[in-house]
Amino acid sequence: MQQFDIIVVGGGSAGSAAAARLAEDGKRRVCLVEAGGKNEHIFTRTPGLIAMMPDKSNWAYDTEPMDALNGRVGYQPRGRGMGGSSATNGMVYIRGNPWDYDNWADLGCTGWAWKDVLPVFKRQENSRHGAGEHHGVGGPLHVNKQIEPCHVGEAFVAAAEQLQIPRNDDFNGARQEGMGIYDVTQNNGERWSSARAFIDPIKDQPNLEIKTDALVERIVVDNGRATGVVIKRGRKQETLHASGGVVLSAGAFGSPQILMLSGIGPSEELLRHGIDVILDKPAVGADLQDHCDYLTGYELDDPSLFGGSLKVALRVAKAFVEHRLHRTGMLTTNYAESGGFVTLRPDAPAPDIQFHFIRAIIQNHGRDKLKESGFSLHVCVLRPESRGWVKLNSANPADAPAINPNFLSDPRDMELMIDAAQLMNRIAETPPLSDLGAKDRNPIDYNDRAAVEARIREVADTIYHPVGTCRMGPNADDVVDPTLAFRGIDNLWVADASIMPRLVSGNTNAPSIMIGERCGDFVKAALG
Ligand SMILES: Cc1cc2nc3c(=O)[nH]c(=O)nc-3n(C[C@H](O)[C@H](O)[C@H](O)COP(=O)(O)OP(=O)(O)OC[C@H]3O[C@@H](n4cnc5c(N)ncnc54)[C@H](O)[C@@H]3O)c2cc1C
Repeated sequence: MQQFDIIVVGGGSAGSAAAARLAEDGKRRVCLVEAGGKNEHIFTRTPGLIAMMPDKSNWAYDTEPMDALNGRVGYQPRGRGMGGSSATNGMVYIRGNPWDYDNWADLGCTGWAWKDVLPVFKRQENSRHGAGEHHGVGGPLHVNKQIEPCHVGEAFVAAAEQLQIPRNDDFNGARQEGMGIYDVTQNNGERWSSARAFIDPIKDQPNLEIKTDALVERIVVDNGRATGVVIKRGRKQETLHASGGVVLSAGAFGSPQILMLSGIGPSEELLRHGIDVILDKPAVGADLQDHCDYLTGYELDDPSLFGGSLKVALRVAKAFVEHRLHRTGMLTTNYAESGGFVTLRPDAPAPDIQFHFIRAIIQNHGRDKLKESGFSLHVCVLRPESRGWVKLNSANPADAPAINPNFLSDPRDMELMIDAAQLMNRIAETPPLSDLGAKDRNPIDYNDRAAVEARIREVADTIYHPVGTCRMGPNADDVVDPTLAFRGIDNLWVADASIMPRLVSGNTNAPSIMIGERCGDFVKAALG
């Protein structure tokens, strides 16, 4: 039995920031519990070695078959280990659109308008843009220009410009709209995960205990109050106690799963698995939103691109040496090098689609190992109407949760996706990108909407931004209130991507980190 003031579950994007905020002043005994390992190896640190990450760093969930995707089973990779998904992600630094947060506030999430969250983004950042209206310097999260983006990704931006889509050098600045090269969470050519930014500087503080390789099986609730967690390390089960309570930061799949395993969630679902119901909370695991992504691969034999040939392997070996010596070269790539934001619907309050250029052909989430060099173009619907869910497969904490993103189940998402795919193809057919002579691996007639729709149903899947499964809101049936306190259980908070009431218009790492750090402040204020 071990005693702490506060336990943070999950050392990912949000959990690392939350734990650091709680521990940094040395006033509380904080325990951070992470199911995976320390994640200090070169595969996490060297951006371009992401494809070689050990399997144990990925929860690698399969989804339920999705009706609108021809009954296909989707794939949901999630980082496991310190840094969570920020240790395995594409490092693109995007906060979302100011409208997203103003909309959260309009939905009743008081204190989450853009004016409220901007100072947190700024204080977290050490931005290459320098201090100013939109950016901060001196924070622990390094946000930098890419060291060596490839010319093909630049050609994608230049082609979009030919179609009157403006160039944008800072998607987190005055305007989100436009195309450009993404800023990345890197420092000196290395990945800057949330753990590296927030936990590494304080990990030796005596008031912070970090338990890795420790699976949280459930939250302990006594008389309506969270008092600790039950963990499993190897074969050994232990109970950790926390006088101040528990912050749940296990991500959009892990957090609802742990709640349900603890008897907190939709009672029908809990009873189906023989779990005693502590609190009937239908919103736990509901409202899953994610960015559904359409992609096309292009073959191109260009020395700047990645592929599975011997020629590329030799290039990568050389680049590895360069990276070890100088932290430069092609292995500084985050792969998702360029892209941007476009508004297709005239009544949209903010850009409604996002592009990503990837410096390799991605097929089946990179799990199909292809010999050919090339690139892929991706486009996703930013504020989907479709809603999915997370449930349980069993009462065994070691089993994966049941996940159904229900992609494109709302026809409005499909209509927007077709328009987006058509625009992406127009960019691909525009110089200077078209001048490179790349070969579309799956050509279709993009003027034929039915053909585009059929192709989308065949290949679309996540671009890895699940949120909403423990939604924040002003009503009793919402999972957390605007201070991220659980509605119905005392001394319990949720702080990760799961609390977003609506998916933001962009990548979700920076918003998750912001949520984590704010939760640290809320818990401090609540506990005094
Ligand atoms: C492949 C991929 C690429 C992405 N690319 C980008 C990108 O380029 N830019 C961007 O902004 N976003 C990107 N994202 C999304 C972004 O990384 C996530 O939205 C963000 O990291 C979510 O943060 P989180 O704190 O909610 O969850 P996570 O960072 O996933 O953290 C959850 C943590 O909880 C731990 N955990 C879960 N269950 C338990 C348990 N039972 N016991 C103990 N610990 C547990 C996990 O191991 C993990 O460490 C990407 C995601 C993926 C997977």
